[in-house]
Amino acid sequence: MNILVVGAGFAGSICARELVEAGHKALVVDRRDHIAGNAYDVKDEHGILIHQYGPHIFHTNSERIFNYLSKYTEWHYYEHRVRGVVNGKQYPFPINRDTLNQLYDLDLTEEQAAEFFEKVREPKEKVQTSEDVVLNSVGRDLYEKFFLNYTKKQWGLDPSQLKAGVAARIPTRTNSDDRYFTDTYQAMPLHGYTAMFENLLNHPNIQIKTSTEFKDVLTTENQFDHIVYTGPIDAFYDYKFGHLPYRSLRFEREHLKNVEQYQSVGTINYPNDFDFTRITEFKHLTGQKHSSTSIVREYPTAVGDPYYPIPRDENEKLFKQYQALANVEENVTFVGRLAEYRYYNMDQVVGAALNAVDKILGK
Ligand code: FAD
Ligand code: UDP
Repeated sequence: MNILVVGAGFAGSICARELVEAGHKALVVDRRDHIAGNAYDVKDEHGILIHQYGPHIFHTNSERIFNYLSKYTEWHYYEHRVRGVVNGKQYPFPINRDTLNQLYDLDLTEEQAAEFFEKVREPKEKVQTSEDVVLNSVGRDLYEKFFLNYTKKQWGLDPSQLKAGVAARIPTRTNSDDRYFTDTYQAMPLHGYTAMFENLLNHPNIQIKTSTEFKDVLTTENQFDHIVYTGPIDAFYDYKFGHLPYRSLRFEREHLKNVEQYQSVGTINYPNDFDFTRITEFKHLTGQKHSSTSIVREYPTAVGDPYYPIPRDENEKLFKQYQALANVEENVTFVGRLAEYRYYNMDQVVGAALNAVDKILGK
């Protein structure tokens, strides 16, 4: 088959690779001037490796997915740590035993921390919204200090307007584990994401065209037997049922000359102050050594590139209308965070792409 792949991110690049490995030919197009989608990283003008579309930390519990990517990259082992700022002071986040002890000037053991949460939580019979999730686990004071305003800033919505899955990404811990993720595999591609994507796409039967809009290659001289589409699903159908809401971000980068380290951990969250949600210092993530450093602040916005599907029932309903059209397409496969309108992490997109290929190949 002659296959057109729209989008050179995780979804598109993995589908392209697996389909050519099975004997087909792929043309991969991306409207951006680079491969790797939102995981794109590049050295900035000062020589610091930065993530152009916000901090990307790879983590998964799936041995299959980790082994799959390991064919295309070596790894730099990295466990992400985050602090949340409340009233000008930094606390371990996700909330753990030390967060409680430092915030309330206590000296709780693990058992006592569990009792603390039991005392302050507001039990919910049905946990449906992100507000329910947090109140149900840590109660109102911690909700207001760490979650309420961050969520309002990030999504432009109250936690009660978002599905439970959003806040449920963040665990609550009674021990002192201050890692952001507890997955079995936590690592960054040793030479960066873009280098990993170069390896993924490096195959004689893959042709890549960046700065290329997909409708511009659908001409009479280009005939494709199948299309793998990883862009926004509503755009594919010319928004015929209306626009699916996606949340965007504006990234403000800063280089700090002769500052070896700007902050003590990879990311610091600012739930209650400023218009940005968090500051990330890239060198923590990448392990790069340099006498200067580069950071990024993330400002959530309603307009701009689509970065986050917004998990709400009404959006899910609209998505389902598009999905019904997608389901009956014989020669188009929709896969990835934008095409499936799913708040996927990178590893989940890898899994979705591998499953999509199996389906195309009739496995
Ligand atoms: P994308 O990477 O978005 O790729 C889709 C591509 O399609 C884009 O490059 C786009 O230009 C192209 N495209 C769309 N329409 C067209 C068209 N009409 N013509 C041509 N090209 C088109 N995940 C983690 O696991 N860990 C993290 O720490 C993490 N941090 C994140 C931080 C931020 C700020 C964001 C936004 C996401 C983060 N993610 C993280 C999620 C991760 O970025 C995604 O899961 C993953 O990159 C999605 O891959 P994809 O291929 O589905 O989509
Ligand atoms: N969240 C919060 N306070 C924080 C961090 C996260 O309220 O300090 C909530 C917020 O709603 C956010 C969600 O938890 O959108 C998921 O956070 P995560 O860090 O996983 O978001 P991502 O890295 O995908 O932007």
